[in-house]
Amino acid sequence: MSPRPDLGPPPRLAYTESRLKRAAELRLDAGAVAALAADARAGAYVVGGELIVTKKRNPHCDPLFALNEARALGASTETVFLGLLDGAARFGSGITQAAAEALKARTDLHVTDLRSVAVQGLVDADHLPPIAEAKAVLHWHDRHRFCANCGAATAATQCGWRRDCPSCKAQHFPRTDPVAIMLAIDGERCLLGRSARFPPGMWSCLAGFAEPGESIEDAVRRETQEEAGIVCGRVRYFASQPWPFPTSLMIGCYAEALSFEIVVDREELEDARWFTRDETAAMLLRKHREGLTAPPGAAIAHHIMRSWVESEDDVLG
Ligand SMILES: [Zn+2]
Repeated sequence: MSPRPDLGPPPRLAYTESRLKRAAELRLDAGAVAALAADARAGAYVVGGELIVTKKRNPHCDPLFALNEARALGASTETVFLGLLDGAARFGSGITQAAAEALKARTDLHVTDLRSVAVQGLVDADHLPPIAEAKAVLHWHDRHRFCANCGAATAATQCGWRRDCPSCKAQHFPRTDPVAIMLAIDGERCLLGRSARFPPGMWSCLAGFAEPGESIEDAVRRETQEEAGIVCGRVRYFASQPWPFPTSLMIGCYAEALSFEIVVDREELEDARWFTRDETAAMLLRKHREGLTAPPGAAIAHHIMRSWVESEDDVLG
C-alpha cells in the first residue's frame, strides 16, 4: 500500500459538538425559563429566515445579543429556549427575513446567511451549533403555523419545542429530515458528482433524502444507483452533521461499489466520475492540477473524503 497523503489537522465540522446543555426538562417550566431570561448573562441568537444577525467585532463577529438588544432589532416572530451554557440561558429569537434585510443598512451589524457565516469563519465556531439549532427550529415555526390535522391556527408551547392545536388538540414537534451522503469506494478510487448548483470545478459526495420506510443503508444504495448507476454493497456509517438548510441531518457513509460503469441521471447531476485517492487529496488541499476542488471544511462531505484519503484501514471494514 502506498503511504497516505498527510492533509494536516482536520478543520472542525460545522454545527457539531455543541457546548450547550439543551436542558429539555426546563421546557416544561416556563417560570424557571423566565427567571433565566431575566438573568443578565442570558443571550439570544437573532435569525431572520435565512439570515443571521451579528455585531461587527474583531477578529470575529459576535452573534450573541442581550435579550433587550435582540428585542430592539425587530418584532419577535417566535422565541426558542436553546439550552444552557455554563448555567446561562441561550435563546433563538426569530424576526422576519424582511426585518433582517433592513438591518443590513446598519454599519454596526453584519447580516448574512449561515453558510457564509460558517464557511468564512465569521463567528467563533462554538456559536455555530446553537445558531443551527435556532435557525432550524425557527424555520419550522415559520412553516407550521396551522394544524396539519384540522387546519386551525396553532400556538407554540414548551418554550418553542412544540406547537399545540387548540381545536383538535394535536401536538406538533419540530422535524428533522435525514439525508444520506455517501462516498462509494472502488479500491483506490472514489465516486464524486457535480450538481449544476455547485461552484465551478467543485465535486462532492452524492447525497439524497432517505424516504419513509427506508433504512439509511438502503437510501445510500438507492441514491447511488439512481444518480450514477453504480450498484453498492456494504455500507458503513462515518459521522453526521446537522444541516439547517432548512432542517436536514446529513448522515455520512461509505459504500462499497460493486459495479463500475457510471450512468449519470442528468436531472440530478451535471456529471459523476471516479477520482483516484491522490487526485482527491489534491482537491481537498486545493492543489489539483486542473483546479478542481472539494467542498469546504465546514461540510461533512469534506470530512468523508478526507478520512478516506488519509485512512490506512479499509473504511468499509
Ligand atoms: Zn388541529
